[in-house]
Parts: sequence; C-alpha cells; structure tokens
Amino acid sequence: MKVIKPGSTIGILGGGQLGRMISITGRNMGYRFVTLDPTPNSPCGQVADLQITAPYTELKAVKALADSSDVITYEFENVDSTITSILETTSFVPQGSELLKITQNRIREKSTLKSFHVPVAPFLVIQSENDIETAIDRLGLPYIMKTATGGYDGKGQWVIKSKEEIPFAMEVWNKAGIDMIIEQFIPFSKELSVIVARNIHGQTKTFPVAENDHINNILHQSFVPARITDEQRIQAESTALKIADSLQVVGLIAIEMFLTNDGEIIVNELAPRPHNSGHYSMDACITSQFEQHIRAICGMPLGDTTLLSPIIMVNILGQHLNKVLDKIDQLPPTAKLHLYGKKESVENRKMGHINFLGSTFEQIDEEIKNLGIWS
Ligand code: ATP
Ligand code: MG
Repeated sequence: MKVIKPGSTIGILGGGQLGRMISITGRNMGYRFVTLDPTPNSPCGQVADLQITAPYTELKAVKALADSSDVITYEFENVDSTITSILETTSFVPQGSELLKITQNRIREKSTLKSFHVPVAPFLVIQSENDIETAIDRLGLPYIMKTATGGYDGKGQWVIKSKEEIPFAMEVWNKAGIDMIIEQFIPFSKELSVIVARNIHGQTKTFPVAENDHINNILHQSFVPARITDEQRIQAESTALKIADSLQVVGLIAIEMFLTNDGEIIVNELAPRPHNSGHYSMDACITSQFEQHIRAICGMPLGDTTLLSPIIMVNILGQHLNKVLDKIDQLPPTAKLHLYGKKESVENRKMGHINFLGSTFEQIDEEIKNLGIWS
C-alpha cells in the first residue's frame, strides 16, 4: 500500500485559503508544498515552498506542478478534465478525477445521489422555456433556479417566488447560455454539514456535525456540536458515510444538508475538499480537517476527530476585516483568529475566520455579540 511519507512534496492546484491551511498544517507534519495559482503571492503561495504562478489552464505549468510533486491535491472543484488527465499521467492523484466530474455539475451530482437513494430536493433540468413555467406545477413556488456549473456563495442562483417572475426567470435562462436546473425550495429548520475523510485504504471517519447559518447565501457562522437530536445526528453521519463509501472518495468530502421541519435530512450539495464549515476543527478537534485530508491522500491512518469543546466559527468577510483589526485587543482569550493573507479586502470575500471556543453557546454568543463586529 502506498504511503507518502513526511519529507515528500504535496502539490496543490489552487492557491486560496484552503490550500494555505492545508500547507500550514502539512508543514508542521514535515511535508513540502508546491502550489499553482495565477495570482502572485497567493494565500497558499505565501506559505508553500514554491508557487508556480500561471493560469490553471497553462499545460506547461500544470506539468511542472506534477513533475515536482509526489502527490497532487486540489482546493477547488472546477478543475478541467484535460488538466486532471495531465496530472494523473505525470503524478499521483489519489482523489482521481471522477469525483470532480460529478461534483462540478449539479445535474450529475444530484442524479448520482439519487442513484444511491440519498434524498435530495426534487429538481428538473431546464430543457426549454416552457419548463420554467411547468416547473410550478411539478415543484411549486417558490423554487430555485441554479446554474449546473460554476456556482458558489449563492452566485448563479435565483429564487422565483411568483408567477409574475416567470418572464424574468426565462430571461435569466436565455442569457445564461449554460445548463440550469430548477429545484424545489426546502423550508428547512437548520442547515447542517458533515465532513467525511476516506483514505486510500478505504478507512473512513466523520467530523462532528456542524450547524450552519448563512447570510446572503454565504456561510456566516457554524455551531458545533449541532443542536439536533441524537437520531438526527446519526442520520446525518450515516448519510455522509454512505455517500463517501458509494463514491469511493479519497480525501475529504463535505456534505451540505438541510434538516427539514419534519426532522428529515435532505442533501443539498457536495464539495470534494476541505470546507468552510469545517474550519472549526482547526481549534476544536483532536485532528483538523486539513490534517485529516493530508493523512487521507498520503495513505496514513486517519486521526481522531473527537470534539474537545463547543465552538462557534464566524467568517470574516471583506466588510468585517477592519472592524476585527480595530477590536483585536478585545477578542476573548479563547478566540482563535485565522487570516488568509489576501491582499485586497473586497465586500463578501472570505478574508479569514475566528474560532470562538467556550463552555456553552450562550456564553460564546454573548462574547461575539459584545464585540459588535458582525451586527
Ligand atoms: P456554496 O458556497 O455552498 O458552494 P452554492 O452557491 O453552490 O453555495 P448552494 O449551497 O446550493 O449554492 O446554496 C446556497 C444556499 O442557498 C444554501 O446554503 C441554502 O441556504 C440556500 N438554498 C439552496 N438551495 C436551496 C433549496 N432547495 N431550498 C432552500 N434553500 C436553499
Ligand atoms: Mg452550498
């Protein structure tokens, strides 16, 4: 069985914050890192041994990344299949390209989940303008129109609330020029996520279930442990494990779910990589999601994911950064600040996060409110 030992070089396609946190953790473990990203001095490039600065589509650069790496991983899912095939022929890519192909496209992703009998929101693929109208009969209103590819943080999504908005929906579809789906709106009571690691030997481990609050479709905060019943927790974890095993995942897979008002779990989407809702694990679990990812792709036994403390993770977006810096001397001593080294602070861009540890959510929540950064 292949084990990539410390001292080896891990190549990361993408230089964002996820790559940065993989590299910081992996450096502690004795690995070396090379990243490929078009932006010089990227968040990951700042902490890696080497950044190759070039577009992800520049084949020469992709080849150089593969040549200098003992194992390759990626930190985003929109990797072109030409690129993965170059990587796979030149280097070791334990995560493979099949999972990327599935998670890059909502139609493939949801159809695959359905084939595993995993519950997803009822949906239809828009094939004609007419479908936008008839979807009302099949899925009801409101419904959500989503692009099949390229969406993140709610980009590429439109909630259609009434019949009057149908012409608008048709216009959006005509302009988009890419495949789109219509999804039933799920009136959820909570959003949950479970991150599962699976290593190259098939060992799996879940992280504690996170309860996620979004503002404007962007993750705002995660509460861990999620305030759900034991039964719901077991349901969430077993659904996540079933997905990881059925897809033969290697590395991490994050599974976003809705908990409906009836207490049912419906899977929303998958991400085949470390996930924002798993950042709490950096300070609250014995093994962080980043360490676990490295262990998984390097063929090492997976680490213990036990939660050591209740925690609220809060994202720092561009509009919050200055306030955080102004109040840095007021952060509670149990708050752990993580900043990603991004040069430009743009509204809604993820600049960092704070992990607030404490004994109860009430106490942590009060500390967060007292800071007055997010209100
Ligand atoms: P991400 O940044 O997680 O990749 P995304 O843009 O790919 O986001 P989704 O995760 O599908 O999109 O949706 C973003 C958010 O919109 C969800 O977290 C949820 O709050 C809301 N949402 C999406 N689909 C539905 C649905 N079918 N019913 C109700 N709310 C939904
Ligand atoms: Mg999502």
